[in-house]
Amino acid sequence: MRKKIVAGNWKMNMNLEEGLLFAKSVNQYFMEKPSGKAEVILCTPFIHLSGISEILNKGKMTFGAQNCASEPSGAYTGEVSAMMIKSTGAEYVIIGHSERRSFYHEDDRLLNKKTILALNSGLKVIFCCGEVKGEREEGKHFIVVKRQLEEGLFTLPTEEMEKVVIAYEPVWAIGTGLTATPDQAQEMHKYIRSLVREKYGKECAEILTILYGGSCKPSNAQEIFSKPDVDGGLIGGASLKKEDFVAIVEAI
Ligand code: PEP
Repeated sequence: MRKKIVAGNWKMNMNLEEGLLFAKSVNQYFMEKPSGKAEVILCTPFIHLSGISEILNKGKMTFGAQNCASEPSGAYTGEVSAMMIKSTGAEYVIIGHSERRSFYHEDDRLLNKKTILALNSGLKVIFCCGEVKGEREEGKHFIVVKRQLEEGLFTLPTEEMEKVVIAYEPVWAIGTGLTATPDQAQEMHKYIRSLVREKYGKECAEILTILYGGSCKPSNAQEIFSKPDVDGGLIGGASLKKEDFVAIVEAI
């Protein structure tokens, strides 16, 4: 059976004190009211990682970073390597978020390099893909997602692919209040699983967790998560409000 996941992406929000207090409070909530089958992940800014590792009740909640360097170590001022992230106790790293692709011009080749480094460092990867509005309007969304996966991920051997979670995040739905309909999400998730099946076989495709991201909130989570190929969510804005975040986890 494939793993269900709800991952919060805090983006560049919360100072150290705010972040640790928030994590403590969410952790406390799930200690009292276990999250059932879903794994709950907090993907935080780098500054929170080591503090959060002291707070989280491992097993119920896990945590990760939102990016890593494309080089293993050395003279790369301002960068944080996958190994450094791993050394905090983090289990995951998000690679290829649309904000990294657009604001920092991260292309498929670079994201492939980061993915390989992260996996070699012992992290699991949440690999994001998704089309922009114009691409969907022109009917190119399947072609775009296929290219992102083929160039960013499909160089991996099967045993590494099994440590990857794919997040389908239509860019036009991220932080915009627009959400893909449950049918649009299901259609793309099913397509992604079919690509993985073609490349890696049935078993790998069946255990692959595919998350939906893009203005997911308590009012729409349950309907989206009820689709057979949607295994949870990557949550941005709503992961910053405890009531909303826990409600989304409970929707699964
Ligand atoms: C995200 O940042 O991955 C995201 C899905 O954001 P939001 O939920 O705010 O649309």
